[in-house]
Order: sequence, then structure tokens, then C-alpha cells
Amino acid sequence: MKKNTYKIYTLGCKINQYDSGSLADGFNAAGFKALAGNADLAIINTCTVTKTAHAKSRQMLKKAKKENPGAKIALVGCWPKVYKKSAADLRADYVYGAGQYDEFIKKITVDFRLEKTNASRAPRPALRGKSRYFIKVQDGCEQFCSYCVIPYARGKLRSRPKEEIIDEIVRATEAGYKEVVLSGIHLGLYGKEATRDTRRGARDGNLAELVKEILRIKGLGRVRLSSIEISEVTDDLIDLFARPRKEGIPYVCKHLHIPLQSGSDKILALMNRPYDTAYFRAKIEKLRKIMPDVAITTDVITGFPGESEEDFRTTYDFIKEVNFSRLHIFPFSAHERAPASRYPGQIGEKIKKERADKLRRLGYKLFREYKNKFAGRELEVVVGNLKNGRRLGKSEYYFDIELDPDLIRADNGDGLTGGIITVNF
Ligand code: SF4
Repeated sequence: MKKNTYKIYTLGCKINQYDSGSLADGFNAAGFKALAGNADLAIINTCTVTKTAHAKSRQMLKKAKKENPGAKIALVGCWPKVYKKSAADLRADYVYGAGQYDEFIKKITVDFRLEKTNASRAPRPALRGKSRYFIKVQDGCEQFCSYCVIPYARGKLRSRPKEEIIDEIVRATEAGYKEVVLSGIHLGLYGKEATRDTRRGARDGNLAELVKEILRIKGLGRVRLSSIEISEVTDDLIDLFARPRKEGIPYVCKHLHIPLQSGSDKILALMNRPYDTAYFRAKIEKLRKIMPDVAITTDVITGFPGESEEDFRTTYDFIKEVNFSRLHIFPFSAHERAPASRYPGQIGEKIKKERADKLRRLGYKLFREYKNKFAGRELEVVVGNLKNGRRLGKSEYYFDIELDPDLIRADNGDGLTGGIITVNF
């Protein structure tokens, strides 16, 4: 007799994690039950952003087969969407790409003879076990950077209706979350497709208008943007970041994650990035003039095809000049579907790694210096989970602060998690 249990294995970004949460909601609503081991259905929500992610998805598939003997195997997410054939070759029972989850749930409902459901519209409960609430507000990307396959995996721009987002954040706030993180594949273009669809009209507005609305939610502490392109940091958004603080009114965290990818204009053009370093520099100067303490974190790719020693040096110097507060470094590793994988001037793995290591060392230094600037100040932190007797708090500026053990002793349970407290740093 079927027990109708499932287990989801998730790889990749926060959006994938969010999608796994939505899938779980759908399965729960359909009468399935989550199980930690040996389930009837093992779902691997894959990632395809780099070759390494691809390899990890394969490993996860093997692991899922081993841990759930006899289970039906579903391969979902970005990988099968981009590489349909190779996924089918792996002999999974179900293969559904990102964005095909309604279809997937319907198919499972029929195959496992579950109740009919409108599972995809099931109310989304607050995510458990996290101190901050990540919400997907947008999906899809049409930028087609030459190293990236995400537009093939995620398709055209799609924004969630504003009312639906507000409703979900209200429920997360009621569940005790004080910080919400707005996430999207191309977050800065929230609402963009509506402005070019005359039938729909600009119903949901742009990102700044969405944030403005979210800041009206009673009981919410603060909002953070997960990542945004430099060209999408508008004056309206900057005004919201810089709003004077008022007791009891939510605020926007003074933290922007703005992917740079390279500090060489030659490489940026080859990457098909929509800016050059002069534009980037000018926008950062503007931000710092208004918010001198703002945290600006970034992503950088090392060893992009054609990146000479001089291009790398230019990137290194530009990163130092911009004085980012934190760096995420990725050695170039594009798939065959990304045009850059076929560009001339491919760089050897050793050089890519050496350059990545150099930038990582620079990143540690910049991070320490940035954090030290806050010594002696009072900061509001979101209290993290208790882990091995330690508890960290996430500051508005994105760095973590180890919390006083007395505070931990005062709370034997996990009642503090997700709340906002003020600490002396
Ligand atoms: S903006 Fe560029 S890097 Fe980001 S998801 Fe779109 S194509 Fe990929």
C-alpha cells in the first residue's frame, strides 16, 4: 500500500529553496507527507548555474536513489530545463523544469491517486527553521549575460502580483519574522514586463513601489533586497534606503548586493553586462554620498575567456577602489549552452584559481576593515538560530555578530530566533 511520502533535495540559490518550499506546500495540500528518509517520491531540485552545480546535481541524484530505495525519482528545476536530453538519460521517473511545477503536482496527484487539489495556490506558511523570511517576488531573466544559462532555465520575466506578496509577508510577520528578504532571478526588474504588456498595464508597479508598500506592514522590522543590478538602483529606491528611521516603522537594510563580475570594461562588454566601470563607480559614489556606511557586497568571476593579467589587475584595483564590504568569487565555469564557453582565449584552471585566491584574500581584508568601522556602535540584529551553544545576529549591514552567552542562557528554547534586538558591537 502506498504511504504517499516525499522528500525534497535542494541545490542552488535561495530561489530554488523557495521553489522547494512551494513544492512542499503543494504536496502537503495534495495529501502527501514529508519524510526524512526512504520516501515514496524523491525530488531533486537541481541547479545548473556552473559546471560544478551540474556535477553536484548528479551526485545528489545518486544519493537520493540510495537513500530512498524503490522510490519514484523526480528531477526538477533548472538543470532539466536547460539540458532536457541529458536529464532524461538519467532515467528519472519524472522530469520537470523550473516553472512547470503546477503540471508536476497535477501529474503526481493522478499517479498517486491523491485528492484533487489546487495545490499551487495553497497558502504558503512561513518557512520553519530560518530566522529571516526569504520571499520570491519575481522569476525569469532576459539579460543573457554570455556566461549564464539562467535565462534558458528560468524563461521570461514574471513578477508575482503585489497583493499576493503583501499577503505572504503579512503572514510571515504574524508568524514572528522581523526581516524579509526580497528575492528574484532579476529582482531589479520587478514589474517590468507589466509595463510592456498593454493588456495588463503597469498594475503592480516597480520594485521601489513594491518596497514602499511593504514598509507599511505593521509589525515588520525590516526589508532587505537580495541582489540588484547597478543599472536598476533607481533614485526612488535610494530614497527608500535613506529614509529617516522612525520608531516602530519598518526600514530597508542599508545593504546592496550588486554583482560587478569584472572591473575591466573589455571583459564586461564580452560578458554582455549592461554597464561599464565608469557607470558603476558613479552610482556607488552617489550611494555613499547619501549613505556613507552602506554595505556593498558583490560577485566577481575570475578567468573569463580573454581575461589578461592586465585585465585581472584592473579588476583587482577597481575592487579596492570601490571598497566593497564583501566579495563572492567564482572561477569561470560556464556550460556549453552559454556562449562564453565557446569564446576564444579560454583560461587554464590553475590561473583561474590563483586569481580567485588573490581576490578572496583581498575580500577578507576589505570585510575586516568594513566591519571594524562599526566597533563601539549600537546595532540592530536579527537573532539567528542556536547552533552548538552559539547564536549569531545578522546586522542590517549584512555581517554577523556573536551574541552574548547570557542572552542565550536567558532563552532555553528557540523563542528569540527571528526577533530584532539591539546590541553593542
Ligand atoms: S542578469 Fe545575467 S547573470 Fe543574472 S541571471 Fe540574468 S543572465 Fe544570468
